[in-house]
Amino acid sequence: MSNSPLVTYTNLTPYNCTKPRRGNILYIIPHCYVGQVTAKRGCDGFYPNGRGASAHYVIGYDGQIGQSVDEANRAWTTGGSLSANGYTGATMDHYAVTIEVACDSFHPYAITQAAYDALVRLMADIAKRNGIQELKWKADKSLVGKPEQQNVLVHRWFAAKACPGDYIYNRLGDIVAQANKILRGDDDDMTEADVKKIVKETVASEIKAAVKAAVLEVMNETNPVYKDLKDVPAYWQDAAKSLLDAGAVNGGTPVEVNATDLNLRAETLKAAVVAVQYVHAMLPGGK
Ligand SMILES: [Zn+2]
Repeated sequence: MSNSPLVTYTNLTPYNCTKPRRGNILYIIPHCYVGQVTAKRGCDGFYPNGRGASAHYVIGYDGQIGQSVDEANRAWTTGGSLSANGYTGATMDHYAVTIEVACDSFHPYAITQAAYDALVRLMADIAKRNGIQELKWKADKSLVGKPEQQNVLVHRWFAAKACPGDYIYNRLGDIVAQANKILRGDDDDMTEADVKKIVKETVASEIKAAVKAAVLEVMNETNPVYKDLKDVPAYWQDAAKSLLDAGAVNGGTPVEVNATDLNLRAETLKAAVVAVQYVHAMLPGGK
């Protein structure tokens, strides 16, 4: 088990937690702190002996993240006398990482945008480090205890409380969706359709290049390039030389540099040779 690298303030309480937790981390439970505190003030408040409450992380109103309990231990956050599917909040805390988020002290317990963004990042980080591939939120109390269907829980199911407050509760779908985007590594707004298009284009260009190479290979076999006069077969040598001498063909190099530069494909040279022979045949006295 590890702790979040996003933390900027740590004050682990030796008192208000159970060491170690009973099992693996399967859930995340966000709470509302009820007060626009800093991460430091929130964590310091959970420190003293006898406080009887704590959380793994406290997100301040400015988006700073503090840590009060090591993830290896059970924080005392989701108390209450109610149970859901036979589970109490205290039991679920043995399998959860809990987060207190600074918020207004009145309904709907609104949180700042900085705190909202930090909550998204922290939830993605907790999931990633603990092997949770996807965060799932269905707002369905009957799924408590079934982490494969719902692994985000709320305090109000285990206590007569508003926690995490309507502001967070009503936005948990969006918070979880944003965190999942980070988890999947595609938080740069690239859609599945974009990815498919890129794959299609890449495959198409690879096929095109492969076809081009194959065609070129066949062509070089059946229609080779004669780079120089010396490459030309003996039966076309004379005709090719007269074409070069007349300046009718040129391989691209100035005559002064390379007078025998040809750079013609067999088919092209053949056409030129035929033309030369035709002209010769038509000339008076031609053979
Ligand atoms: Zn709570």
